[in-house]
Amino acid sequence: MAAGLIDPRANNDEGISISDTPVKIVVGSVEAEVSFCVHPALLQKHSNIFEAALKKEWTSGQQRIVDLWEENPDTFTLYAQWLYTGKLFTKREPASTSYKRYAELYVLGEKLIDRTFQNRVMDATVAAKREPDENGRKYRPNASLSSIVYSGTPKGSPLRRFMVDCYLRSGASGSIQQHADEPDKVDHEFLMDLSAALLANRGASKSHLEEKYRHLERGVPCTYHIHEGGNLCEGATPADDDEDNLWMGY
Ligand SMILES: [Zn+2]
Repeated sequence: MAAGLIDPRANNDEGISISDTPVKIVVGSVEAEVSFCVHPALLQKHSNIFEAALKKEWTSGQQRIVDLWEENPDTFTLYAQWLYTGKLFTKREPASTSYKRYAELYVLGEKLIDRTFQNRVMDATVAAKREPDENGRKYRPNASLSSIVYSGTPKGSPLRRFMVDCYLRSGASGSIQQHADEPDKVDHEFLMDLSAALLANRGASKSHLEEKYRHLERGVPCTYHIHEGGNLCEGATPADDDEDNLWMGY
């Protein structure tokens, strides 16, 4: 079948300015600093934090500098690449290890208040979950990932719900018990959310849970997106589990 036409056109007034002097963003640590140069219009379009930071007055002709100490340069590289290309250059990473990468990216999106980026990272996370490795095996995020997810996101965050839903749909008791001797590796709040979800779904059959959390395996995972305007993505159907999410403050 011939591929459909991919129409690249967009509204004339939606283009961003790339003639301004790029902003210097300093990431890493004093000992190992890495600098990035990104056009201000791109940063302001995507991130509320950069929008506020770049509103401050600066002397014309001087380069503006934003410090993002503490951020991982590898993580920020992927963010900057995404700003310019709309792609996450992570596909060669195995699904079993890419969850940590996506969790770190999602937390960066949380700090920068870039909801579109967070939604695309969420899509990448779900894509990694759906994709089998060369042996046909699919992976759930390890419970130890909860320490990154829960320390970097607010209550009710879609990434928190994704973690809980993965375990609710197909988690095995061994995946929690394997951390019995290292309890600090698994976030306490994650265990609380998972316990509450298990009780809320007590008696539900495996097939019921598989159908209820079908968005983990097929379709548009809109239930894990943040839509500030309230509109669902094209092709998405409303999640039918809103009532059960009451236990997480929804
Ligand atoms: Zn959506």
